[in-house]
Amino acid sequence: MKVPLLDLKRQYKYIKNDILPDIGELMENQTFILGDQVGRFEQAVASYCNCEYCIGVASGTDALILALDEAGVKNGDEVITTPFTFFSSASSIARVGATPVFVDIDERTFNIDINKIHKKITDKTKAILPVHIFGQAADMDFILSLAKEYNLKVIEDAAQAIGTTYKGKKVGSLGNFGCLSFFPSKNLGAFGDGGMILTKTLGDYERLRAMRMHGETKKYHHNFIGYNSRLDAIQALVLSKKLKYLNNWHEMRREHAHRYNELFEKKELLEFVTPPYETTVSYHIYNQYTIKAKKRDELKQFLDENNIGNAIYYPLPLHLQNCFEYLGYKKGDLPIAEMVSKEVLSLPVFPELTEEEQNFVVDKIEEFYKGKI
Ligand SMILES: *Cc1c(COP(=O)(O)O)cnc(C)c1O
Repeated sequence: MKVPLLDLKRQYKYIKNDILPDIGELMENQTFILGDQVGRFEQAVASYCNCEYCIGVASGTDALILALDEAGVKNGDEVITTPFTFFSSASSIARVGATPVFVDIDERTFNIDINKIHKKITDKTKAILPVHIFGQAADMDFILSLAKEYNLKVIEDAAQAIGTTYKGKKVGSLGNFGCLSFFPSKNLGAFGDGGMILTKTLGDYERLRAMRMHGETKKYHHNFIGYNSRLDAIQALVLSKKLKYLNNWHEMRREHAHRYNELFEKKELLEFVTPPYETTVSYHIYNQYTIKAKKRDELKQFLDENNIGNAIYYPLPLHLQNCFEYLGYKKGDLPIAEMVSKEVLSLPVFPELTEEEQNFVVDKIEEFYKGKI
């Protein structure tokens, strides 16, 4: 048996007939940039995330860059974030000229360790950029109260967390800005790249709408220098169709996650494998099901040899990336992130994964640790 880490073809088969006629119509109309499709999808996400305003942009990375820009983050500023995340959580900070300041993570949730943020706040700190890693919310109450005390902006990287809740509220709607990604492997994935910024104030909304269009407020009149970063109409169409299924897909991912947990326990594998920790305050959407595994690299190789999809998110924490050498971090500076990056392994958890496939994954993990059974 071959079990993929993610199989988007299965999802497509299921929604194909719902999507293709509308794509056909769009092709007939040849209206590709912004327009009704994007406006309607922005409203749908605003309603889904319980947030006032949404602005569709070209990617999750651009969502972060434009949000940081709109937050006034610039040269010489510092922004606090986590080293255990996808690259663009930090590259976006550097891209607007500011300095990423990395704070170590919590060993159980893999999210930023709130107890270590305070020490890193300086006169130059302008914002905090928490990431809701793998689809579970960071501890927002504490982050928001710190931000209030020190007058900092909060930009949530919710790229892996559309639909995740924190104390009943959708993430992305809690800080000044929330950033979503529609990269195909996210829980809500486009047929290509896409992203969205969530915000609460009309001023930010209007400026961000201009910002994604070269800072244009009236055709060929530019009040400021913006970007060319728009969500394509075709992606908005695809995403609008998929949004109807999203809650159901979240639930299926959660069922798979909880079933893995039970199987690992039943098969007495918990001394080798630590399932992901779920907090009581977040609805976890399991963009990734990420275990900590003894002899991780050997397990990975064994799964590879047995055609079981898996991946290491993330093998090298961002403070140790070559491109951030200029920041002056060295090995040992953020020990939890460094340790975790040697232990984590993500397993297939996509909605359409079958019970048979899941059993096979766990059986092979059992075989690896206990030998043939
Ligand atoms: C995917 C992702 C991004 C970037 O999104 P793109 O749409 O690929 O640009 C940013 N942050 C996190 C945590 C992500 O997982």
